[in-house]
Amino acid sequence: MDKKIALITGASRGIGQNILKTLSKEYIVIGTGTSKDSVSKINQLILDLKADGKGLILNNDPNTLEDLFNEILSLYNKGPDILINNAGITSDTLFIKMSEDKWQSVIETNLNLTFKVTQTFIKQMIKSKYGKIVFITSVVGHTGNPGQTNYVASKSAIIGFSKSLAIEVASRNINVNCISPGFISTDMTDNLNDNQKDAILTKVPMKKLGKPDDISNAVLFLVSDKSSYITGETIHVNGGLFMP
Ligand code: NAP
Repeated sequence: MDKKIALITGASRGIGQNILKTLSKEYIVIGTGTSKDSVSKINQLILDLKADGKGLILNNDPNTLEDLFNEILSLYNKGPDILINNAGITSDTLFIKMSEDKWQSVIETNLNLTFKVTQTFIKQMIKSKYGKIVFITSVVGHTGNPGQTNYVASKSAIIGFSKSLAIEVASRNINVNCISPGFISTDMTDNLNDNQKDAILTKVPMKKLGKPDDISNAVLFLVSDKSSYITGETIHVNGGLFMP
């Protein structure tokens, strides 16, 4: 049988990089970064792992998405079987100071780009009657978080979006699910100061930040056939911080 292809957005660092590493043991992995430097990092990692795959550029320039689509089709003669929508940014400030630019930049990357990527690649999945789509959301999309109205709006929107999509494509053998991380040790959480980290840890029953591996292991389950009857669901990976 042909090896399946997994496309992971935002795979140059953090959670996405770890997902790429984990999935590379079983799948062809295409990872995206926003720049040539990021893509070189991904290609070097794929080389070091002796894995099958490639790094390619994806950012808010629509040409990059078109090129990504064409490049995957020309390399593999088919689209990805697995799509991990992981790329995301924060741009935090209290709502009263939230500029339209800060609002738009987070909505554009976290929500609009996710919509465009998913719409671009789901068509091939519908044709081939197979697909696994995973959205990396966030615990704060369920709870809210001061200083993150833009980020929380983008993540909550994806949770609703994924449920509607899951219903629309369920009969086409496409599973659509979310993984909602709590606080995971990456560049994103390195931006928090010690006081903010302490405040978070007092609320986490396990008293530690999560590791990117904790997210990748949940991804591995959701893209496997072991979860074939699960769709429209969110797996919470947060050390007990939030229990819906
Ligand atoms: P990260 O370390 O900051 O990495 C972000 C990734 O997204 C990088 O690969 C980056 O590429 C890419 N990216 C940034 N802007 C982009 C754009 N406009 N278009 C396409 N790709 C873009 O983030 P992370 O902590 O691993 O987070 C990954 C996902 O998990 C995000 O969706 C985040 O919201 C979610 N999450 C993280 C945590 C946490 O505690 N870390 C908690 C909850 C949810 P470059 O390297 O080229 O910039």
